[in-house]
Parts: sequence; C-alpha cells; structure tokens
Amino acid sequence: MSTVLEKIRLHARAHPDRVAYVTVKQTADGFENVHMTWGELEERSSRLAGYLASRLKGRAPLLVCGHKDPLMLVAFLACVRSGRAYVPVDASTPAGRVGDIAAAVEPELILNAEDMDGMPAGRAVLDSAEMRALCETAPRCDDSGQVSGEDIHYIIFTSGSTGLPKGVRITAACLDNFLAWSQNLTAGVPAKPNGDRVFINQAPFSFDLSVFDLYTALYTGGSIRAIPKPLQGDMKALFAYLGSTSADIWISTPSFADLLLADNAFNQSLLPDLRLFLFCGEALTGRTAEKLAAAFPKACITNTYGPTESTVAVTGVVVTPEMAAEHAVLPLGVEKPGTRIFIMDEKGAVLPDGEKGEIVIAGDTVSPGYWNNPAKTAEMFGTCDADGTHARLYHTHDAGYRKDGLLFYCGRMDKQVKLHGYRIELEDIENNILVIPGVERTVVIPERENGEVKDLVAHIVEEAPVQSVIRERQRIRGELKKRLPDYMIPRKFVFDDSLPMTQNGKVDRKALESGPQC
Ligand code: AMP
Repeated sequence: MSTVLEKIRLHARAHPDRVAYVTVKQTADGFENVHMTWGELEERSSRLAGYLASRLKGRAPLLVCGHKDPLMLVAFLACVRSGRAYVPVDASTPAGRVGDIAAAVEPELILNAEDMDGMPAGRAVLDSAEMRALCETAPRCDDSGQVSGEDIHYIIFTSGSTGLPKGVRITAACLDNFLAWSQNLTAGVPAKPNGDRVFINQAPFSFDLSVFDLYTALYTGGSIRAIPKPLQGDMKALFAYLGSTSADIWISTPSFADLLLADNAFNQSLLPDLRLFLFCGEALTGRTAEKLAAAFPKACITNTYGPTESTVAVTGVVVTPEMAAEHAVLPLGVEKPGTRIFIMDEKGAVLPDGEKGEIVIAGDTVSPGYWNNPAKTAEMFGTCDADGTHARLYHTHDAGYRKDGLLFYCGRMDKQVKLHGYRIELEDIENNILVIPGVERTVVIPERENGEVKDLVAHIVEEAPVQSVIRERQRIRGELKKRLPDYMIPRKFVFDDSLPMTQNGKVDRKALESGPQC
C-alpha cells in the first residue's frame, strides 16, 4: 500500500499543472480566488521541508498557524516530509489558547502562515513572507526522513475538561489506514474528463473533519475547494463561489449543510457535478438527509462517525430514502475494515446486540494517545486482541447500540457537546470562567432543540452582588475571548445567587437544563 506522501509525489509528478487547491481571500473589493497547482504544492513543500530539515535540531512537532491559505497546506506537508508532526492552529484561536498549545508542545519553531497576532513570546516564528521566500529558494528536501509508520503525522488539539486543550496524536500509519477506506467511500464518484475530482472543504484545519477532504483529495489525485470562514458569513459571495467550484464531493458537518439548505438556491443546479455528500462530526438527522436528497437528486448521502482519537471516522452508511424516513437520527453504519467496535457496560463487559452501552473503538486508526498526557491517555485508551490482532482501543464516552448489523448513536455519557459541529467540553468553559476574578462558582448548560444543542448558557455565582448585569456580562465575555475561541463562548450569561444542588451535593445540571432561563 502506498503511503499518502508517496501518492502525493506521484500525482504531482503526473500532473504538475493541474490545480490542487483553491480558496478565496478577502480583499477591499470583496473576495478573490487564490489557487495552487500540484507542481507548486510539491515544489514549495519540498523546499520548506529542506529548510526545516537543515535548520532545526530536533524532530519535535511544529505549530502551523493560520486559516485556509495555500501556505497552510504547504507547511503541513513540509513538516511531515522533513520528519516532524504538525499541529494545526486555526486563526480563530485566541492568543491565550495558542500560548497553552505552544506551552504543551514546546515547538522549536512556529510557522505563522497567515501572520496571526499574539504569537507566544519567546518562541521562534517564521512569518508568511519568510515562509514564501524559503518555498522559492531553500534547497529541496530528499524526503529520506519523512514521517512513516508509528511516527506522528499530526496532533489536533481538542477541548479538554481541565480547561486546557488536549492534543490527539495521529500516526502516519493511522492516516494511511483511514485513507485506504475513505478513498473507497468516494470510489463511485466519476472523475472529470481531465481526471480531477473536486472536494469541498468546510472545516477549519484544526478540526479533524478537514483531514477527510484534504487528504482523501490528495490521496486520490483530486483537488480541494476550501471555504474560508469570512465567506461562510456572506451567503451571496458563498453561493457565487460554490457555483464556480464544479464540486463532485461535499464533506462537511450536517450543521453546515443545514445552514445552506435554508436557501432554496442550494441545489443541484448550483452544483451540477455533485455526486456525494459525506457527513461526520455530529448527528445527521433524517430530515436533513431528506431535504438534501430532494435538492440534489443525483447525489448520494453517506453518514460517517468517529472521534478525532480514531482518525476522523471509523463507520459509515449510505443513507437510503427508507432510512431517512424511518430515523430521526440516522444510524452510524458499519465499521471500516481494520476497525472493531464493541458496545460495553460500565465494567467493560461486551454487551449483546440491541443493548445500549459505551461505543469502544479498536483498530488500526486508533491514536497512541494524547500528547504529553499519560494520565488522560491511560483513562481513555487501552489495547485489546481483536480477531487475533493486537490493537489499540479508545473509550469514546459515546452511548450507542447495534441493531440489524448497524451501529446507532444515543448521545454522550459525559459533559462533551457538539455545537454547530464543534466539539466542546462544558468543563473546559467552566474552568476558564472560574479563573476570572470575582467568579465563585459556575456551570455551563447546553440549550437544546429537538435534542440538538443550539446554545450554551453560563450560570455564574459571583463573590459579591452584581451591580450591573450588562457590564458584568461584557467583562466576563471579554475575559473569555482572551482564552477561548468564539464558538466556545456561551451566548447567555445568567448571574444567580446560588446554584441548585442534587441530594448528594452536586450542582443539579438537570434542574438548570429544564428550568426557566434568562
Ligand atoms: P470530533 O473529535 O470533533 O470529531 O468529535 C467526535 C464526536 O462527535 C463523537 O465522539 C460523537 O460524539 C460525535 N459524532 C461524530 N460523528 C457523529 C455522527 N455521525 N453522529 C453522531 N455523533 C457524531
């Protein structure tokens, strides 16, 4: 089996002039397209890798900061071609959080591909101009030290319950095993006459859903049309861009598809070549699938499931019209080859079909654990012998069951939520509120509609009575903005004299979830 890095080199050699990546940049007059060919991706990443290999002493992971500029992709490949993992840090990450990630990783260098403000003090940083110059002038890398097998390919930091993000390490082998499957998911989509297949990228690169589109496209010789955040806020420009993409394969969260479905123009006439929707990251409802099927009669819909800790996705199912009509929340499907899923009770005993328990994933895409966090790794990961092979295993804390050969999802068993597709530990927000001077206690409650989280509400008890609720909300929000990305900041803040308690003295989250709110 060829590795993803070998495949990328082969495709670049075979069609250097074909476009590999397109995105849009905001300018004074609106948006303009920026693109990069396969040849440019190969050349630039090789030269930047050559520089990293010759200048850096160790092989510790490097932070790559920015959003959707082509230089991000160049930097990712440069890191792994020079034998080091990369840590994607999205431009939406506030300086405090970037500092936390840098403190955990201790990178020898930060590649600031889009000149983000607030780089951690005292760290060596290459800005975008320096990176671009190196992409032209540095000696090419010979790829002899590129990552492979159990080397770490990337580390994605996700929300952590302590208030600090935790880094999920994904090996080169995990990524290759995932791609061997993801390419099959897309196999039914024909290529255009020039051999290209266009993949839509919605997720930021710091979210592992982006690995799905980015690497499946590169692995199969396709190309990517990335949708940057500013465009997602301008529907007119977004639809104009989408219409220009000739996209064949769509990969996003269901939330993003829902947002677009609110506009009737999101249909097959806008994207006549579109043949496949691949969803992951949160529950896909039968309703969304039905609406999509009506708007895109030529496209197939596949629901996939998996946590970052087992490399993007490990189960999948093609959604049939009967399935969409029957299930409010669609099944997760069946395991990919190389993965075994067990439904376990609290004691770790495997439950029979039909019984609800924890979804536990074993197999060849499970991460070796969190970066520099042996305690959390020991808590969540383990090993097992599945079908005669020794495999790593991950406790998802997702509840589910298996019926008629399909896996079903029944929500979380802990305080992790998905809001607009983003993974958030409520305790991460709580711990960041608690460090704000004047706050005595807090609890963050998800507000749900039809079971889906729509908003977050922070209930706060302060040390002294709040004089002005408006000013206090502004102060808390301002403090949180320094530490948390916008999607993690609760929309509502309620100041209480006390929090309701359960019989055994814990905060009664259920009472707050169902009770009246601001
Ligand atoms: P992330 O690590 O951000 O990909 O989030 C992983 C979590 O998202 C899983 O543990 C599930 O709770 C949820 N999730 C992912 N895919 C699905 C799906 N298809 N249906 C329901 N929940 C999902």
